[in-house]
Amino acid sequence: MNPDLDRTKDLLRDLIAFPTVSADSNMALIAYTAELLETAGARVEVFSAPCGTKANLFATLGPEVDGGILLSGHSDVVPVTDQNWSSDPFVMQEHDGRLYGRGSCDMKGFIAATLAMAPHLTRQVRDRPLHFAFTYDEEIGCFGAQHLAQILQKRGLIPGVTIIGEPTEMRIIEGHKGCYEYSTHFCGLEGHGSSPDLGVNAVEMAVRYVNRLLQLKDSLRGLAPADSAFDPPWTTVNVGALNGGVAHNVIASRAQVDWEMRPVRTSDADFVKSALRHYCDNELLPRMRAVHPQATIELEVIGEVAGLIPTDENEARRIVSELTGANGADLVAFGTEAGIFQAMGSDVVVCGPGSIEQAHKADEYLAVDQLSQCLVMLQRLGAKLGTQLGARSHG
Ligand SMILES: [Zn+2]
Repeated sequence: MNPDLDRTKDLLRDLIAFPTVSADSNMALIAYTAELLETAGARVEVFSAPCGTKANLFATLGPEVDGGILLSGHSDVVPVTDQNWSSDPFVMQEHDGRLYGRGSCDMKGFIAATLAMAPHLTRQVRDRPLHFAFTYDEEIGCFGAQHLAQILQKRGLIPGVTIIGEPTEMRIIEGHKGCYEYSTHFCGLEGHGSSPDLGVNAVEMAVRYVNRLLQLKDSLRGLAPADSAFDPPWTTVNVGALNGGVAHNVIASRAQVDWEMRPVRTSDADFVKSALRHYCDNELLPRMRAVHPQATIELEVIGEVAGLIPTDENEARRIVSELTGANGADLVAFGTEAGIFQAMGSDVVVCGPGSIEQAHKADEYLAVDQLSQCLVMLQRLGAKLGTQLGARSHG
């Protein structure tokens, strides 16, 4: 039996009881974790979000220098509305070797494991720091991690290694595509359907825009990097919704296109955005403004979450393989905060307890066995911190 497992379960029960749905505050959970980490001897900082009702936590064991090891998890969970749960989603239930509750696998189990281990890790850390980051708003666009990355960059405090504990069944994930979401708004001029030249039809412009987007979508297939391990290997585009207009015989003054890209590299996203901007500036807007000078096309960025690009050299992959015994690393389809930390200059892998299969669903659960495996990983990390890994040769 792992002596830390019972403690981890108790912590997980407490964490699940904070209903940190992304729309709501996570402050109570952050205060709770801050106190635990402070008690364990960490220097803890809480950074409020611009909205004032949410916050990131960043804590450090060891010296305040770059090149450390960061354990990162998001504190928010997806809603439970319209889901048919067998029991209260915010009261943890244990049966048949599973811990049920909203956020159990995505991803409060990992956070609970790091909190349970903190009092041990604090004694093991040497001159390579160990950090904890608990972020807000991951589920709605990774805004918390982006905010935290800005702060760390400003301080020049770049962790050498980042482990994101999203549920991977403790497999090592070294890559996923980015997720860039947009709404493009078209504003034309209303008129009677019988006199098309006297109005500016926003629906028509939106359709032309989508047409251009689909041409770009096709050309992206030919741009797949030769060594791309993603499936499919190229950057994809999806037009998810197209809305506009009021009736058969009215020139539509408003239309909206909701679309996304899943880039395999940032330059593909830049290529699509600049091609669209060029098309709007040189084709659509001149046409629209010839009739109605106030006509507009606006690109609203819903979220631009960087992908995690697999790299040949990855210290995070090397360390986590040593800790878990896993050989090799995989790619996944779901997005995480990993790309944000990679873009900052850290080596990153995603590796955490539980399965993404159970995430976001009713009766979400985390297998106790998975939690034990995560604790073993963290125990081994602690042991390593006391050896050459913890010596400041990597910084
Ligand atoms: Zn998650």
